[in-house]
Amino acid sequence: MPSMMTQPLTISSLVRHAGQYHGQTQIVSVETDGSTTRTNWSEVEHNALRLASALGRLGCETSDRCATIAWNNRRHLEIYFGVAGGGYVCHTINPRLFPEQLIYIMNHAGDKVLFLDSTFVPAVAALRPQLKTIEHYVLMGGRDEEAAAQIEGLLFYDELLAAEPGDFEWPELDEMLPSSLCYTSGTTGNPKGVQYLHRTTVLHTLGANQPDGLALSAKDIMLPVVPMFHANAWGIPYITAAVGSSLVLPGPNLDGHSLVRLIDEEKVTMSAGVPTIWMGLLQALEETGSKAESLTRSMVGGSALPSSMIPEFRDKYGVELIHGWGMTETSPLGSLNQLLAKHHSLGPEEQAKLREGQGRPPFGVELRLVDEDGNRLAEDGQTQGNLQIRGHWIVDTYFGAETTALTGDGWFDTGDVATIDADGYMIIRDRSKDIIKSGGEWISTVELEDIAISHPDVANAAAIAARHRKWDERPVIIAVPQAGKEPDKQSILQHFEGRIAKWQIPDDVIFVSELPIGGTGKILKHKLRTEYGDVLWDAG
Ligand code: ADP
Repeated sequence: MPSMMTQPLTISSLVRHAGQYHGQTQIVSVETDGSTTRTNWSEVEHNALRLASALGRLGCETSDRCATIAWNNRRHLEIYFGVAGGGYVCHTINPRLFPEQLIYIMNHAGDKVLFLDSTFVPAVAALRPQLKTIEHYVLMGGRDEEAAAQIEGLLFYDELLAAEPGDFEWPELDEMLPSSLCYTSGTTGNPKGVQYLHRTTVLHTLGANQPDGLALSAKDIMLPVVPMFHANAWGIPYITAAVGSSLVLPGPNLDGHSLVRLIDEEKVTMSAGVPTIWMGLLQALEETGSKAESLTRSMVGGSALPSSMIPEFRDKYGVELIHGWGMTETSPLGSLNQLLAKHHSLGPEEQAKLREGQGRPPFGVELRLVDEDGNRLAEDGQTQGNLQIRGHWIVDTYFGAETTALTGDGWFDTGDVATIDADGYMIIRDRSKDIIKSGGEWISTVELEDIAISHPDVANAAAIAARHRKWDERPVIIAVPQAGKEPDKQSILQHFEGRIAKWQIPDDVIFVSELPIGGTGKILKHKLRTEYGDVLWDAG
């Protein structure tokens, strides 16, 4: 006889808890048509149960993939739990991928059902002849004749649920069953699928939400700006269910003004998103005069947090920014930046400096640095190396792959270049494919971008490697000026002086009206390299 109970760590257990103990806690959802609906965790669980039952009736079998192309809204939340809780796999798809990538991903995943928001009806109708495995298309809403005319046999989410008697109970699932699937955006080569398990998702939920992690609680009103198609919205749907936070799901409009309105109207206490979102929010706060009174903190990740943002949010709006790092392959949280007791005596500027980095791993994951030959490097805050990770919620083998993605000794190589200090604080210096190699030395694009963005006339900036006859590569800044400003090259280049070694100062600045941004809000550096990678060739 075992001395203690064991229960499988399943996603249905998260939503069951939310339904039972936080049933009346509100979920606000901005719908695709702009209207707002209010529901609660009890209703979300109830609908998720009916959906799980409906999928069985549609002929889904254990571990079948059910895809979504959708915004952050209440039906998407119900699908997260209903699909996984029923024993199926919730495959969230980034709608902003190229059509060829969408076709590749859905065929590769072998999706059987596709749930879509009305926004995506025309796009899906156009792709349909090439989607080989999808048997059911489900519009996330009520009956819509216009949509039905575009996709033959289209089903309607609300009708599917209404047809269920409502007596379905969560099946007992093995915690090692797959629960969800996300593809990396695949800036080079085909996208790769990461298939999460019930167990890994629940452990990520517990690990990422520790007091020095996201620290969400039943007192919070959480606004996930990070899309639900981007690495499980960083785990927020699961974490908020586990702790019973209220959720505000922002729908399709993620511009600064829409977010300010939501924050103020719904009294949002915490949010999460990529830095470009917060740049838009800062501007909208300026323009509207809102002080975002209710907002206490926000998690920022996905790309490096510009250091100037920490004091700006803190001093003007009393908002604490929490920097984190992760990848689709790491569920996604791998590190979060909070201070230690010994840092409390430091002044605000020194504390802000410490918090610029990507932070420390929570219990459940470990980080290390290695050189090109796999030798472990010093964790002294200075030595740069390839960042590797292992733990309870890290990929082992990509979906459909024959071989493991891990090193011989069981670590996952992130493709990032980082430093780690003696306390475990990790700083991402670059992605290995973005780093600039000038005369055999490395220059960090992250650092260059941070300096460029701190120039008062620069709204956003990217640093890229341009080919150079003498030095192999040299840095070039692609900058977007602040509205109404016309900075000149020299003033930007002068801004680097004294902030970085002389030989690291970029060779050129190119002004553009906007940067190419991918579906998850990150700058598409490979596009910039293709366009501007040769600007120094003739000069050199
Ligand atoms: P992709 O960007 O390819 O769509 P991911 O969302 O999984 O896929 O991106 C993971 C990568 O994003 C990391 O390997 C790292 O390069 C970058 N990244 C994530 N968070 C941060 C951060 N806080 N600072 C710098 N880079 C980050």
